[in-house]
Amino acid sequence: MSLNVKNAPGSQVLKRRDRVNGTHVVMAFIAFTLVTLIGSNAWLAWRGYEKELGLAKESSLNLAHAVSQQFDSVFSDVDRTLENIGFRIEQGNMSRQAIKALQPELVNSLSRSDHLHSIFVFDRDGLSLVDTQPRRSSSTRNADRPYFLAHMTNPSTRMRISAPLLSRTTGTWVIPVTRRLNDGNGNFIGVILASIRVDYVRDVLDGYAIGEHGAAGLSLADGTILVRRPFDVADLGRNIANPHITAGLKSFRSGTARMVSPVDGVMRVLGFEFTQNHPVVVAVARAESEILRSWWRSLFIQSIMVLVLSVFIAIFGRFVVHIIRLRSQERLEIERAHQQVSEANLRLQHLAAHDGMTDLLNRRAFDARAAALVSHSARHQRSLSMLMLDVDHFKAYNDHFGHQPGDECLRLVANALKSAARRPADVLARYGGEEFIMMLPETDAAGARTIAENAIQAVRALRIDHPRSPLGIVTISAGGTTTQFAPPMALTLTELIEQADAALYEAKTGARDGYREHGARPQDR
Ligand code: GH3
Ligand code: MG
Ligand code: MG
Repeated sequence: MSLNVKNAPGSQVLKRRDRVNGTHVVMAFIAFTLVTLIGSNAWLAWRGYEKELGLAKESSLNLAHAVSQQFDSVFSDVDRTLENIGFRIEQGNMSRQAIKALQPELVNSLSRSDHLHSIFVFDRDGLSLVDTQPRRSSSTRNADRPYFLAHMTNPSTRMRISAPLLSRTTGTWVIPVTRRLNDGNGNFIGVILASIRVDYVRDVLDGYAIGEHGAAGLSLADGTILVRRPFDVADLGRNIANPHITAGLKSFRSGTARMVSPVDGVMRVLGFEFTQNHPVVVAVARAESEILRSWWRSLFIQSIMVLVLSVFIAIFGRFVVHIIRLRSQERLEIERAHQQVSEANLRLQHLAAHDGMTDLLNRRAFDARAAALVSHSARHQRSLSMLMLDVDHFKAYNDHFGHQPGDECLRLVANALKSAARRPADVLARYGGEEFIMMLPETDAAGARTIAENAIQAVRALRIDHPRSPLGIVTISAGGTTTQFAPPMALTLTELIEQADAALYEAKTGARDGYREHGARPQDR
């Protein structure tokens, strides 16, 4: 028995799609939440980073401004001192003696200043005419100093700031600030030197809070370091000119930058500003690591919080997905159980209505359907035919071959009969033993005859060996009757069956393997 039970409308495929969609929505939501959470935190962190750097740039610039102003006035003060002395020497056309007599005045100037280390006036050969040193060294000859050579060749009397030098008289580091002396004709007659103590500059720079790894410094426009914090003697006079930076410095009086220090390789954020009146640039820089220290700390805490939250969200998401999967699995199982029950029901219904051996309708099912068909045909006065079919000499077949082959033969006969009654409305049933019944709605006597003969022919065509039959093969006999339900003689189901049975009886009394129609005259046969 083959039973094809179609899936119910809410089939497994659909449910699986539901489940897939459900878990996908949850997963998409979780992913969106995580991306938003991480993205917004990354954005906030980025903003914080930018802000820290911005503030650091601002404060570096402010400090550079303050330091630059302070040193501008220091250099202006030195300039005034040099100018004052130079003017007097040049205008007064002073003799060497007169210049030497300036000594108390120079000492006085020195004592009034915090930053000056010494003041010298050199003649055109670089020999000291007068100075502020307590013990004069007769061997002080500075004609070889770069500033001296520069003033000799350059007629300008403008103040000149040079790279730091080790003082020949005291052995301390100084920044030489010098001015050329001219005679009335503009000829070179010497140089005035006012040297600034490197220690003074260093103390000033050390006074600013710029962190442990911060840096500050004064340098000349060409990149020569005057003094730098953190202090290292080796840096004094060192040229850190970088074409890129020098070009930048030329176009801006002040500015900020984020760069790796060419001196110590530390990444810093720096602010720089030129002193207003002198070719000295001041730079103040804070180490990026220090600027970002608290930012890193809060980033770390924030990241841990985001991580913990993300893990929670992910766990929660997994849990929800798990629940959804569980639910839909339960639903599937319930559905499967429903399906199994309905399949079993259909199978039971089929079993109840069909004959287990031939799978034709059984007699009970036939009676129920036949009754309905008869009343329907009677109501509409439609023709209805009834055929009774019986295997010939079947007892002998059984006796010869045995019961099992007898059953097999009945199955083959049943199939042959099925092929004869093909209309959907036709009803074919096993009426009992080796007897079958066919009810053919909308079929007249001629139609019934055709179908009966088709059935007989179909069984014959099986060519089932039957040695004990006169015909040698298994055959059937059929008897039939037809009615139009024309009043007043409307036949009942029982009467129809009786008439068909009677016709069958007639067929059996004949040669068998043939059809008899109820009520037909012998010449019709
Ligand atoms: P007739 O040509 O007059 O119909 O002769 P017959 O032998 O077919 O008729 P009879 O009524 O004497 O015998 C019917 C036999 O059919 C009796 C029984 O052994 C056999 N039979 C009935 N039902 C089954 C069945 O389900 N299986 C088998 N193997 N035999 C069956
Ligand atoms: Mg028989
Ligand atoms: Mg019989």
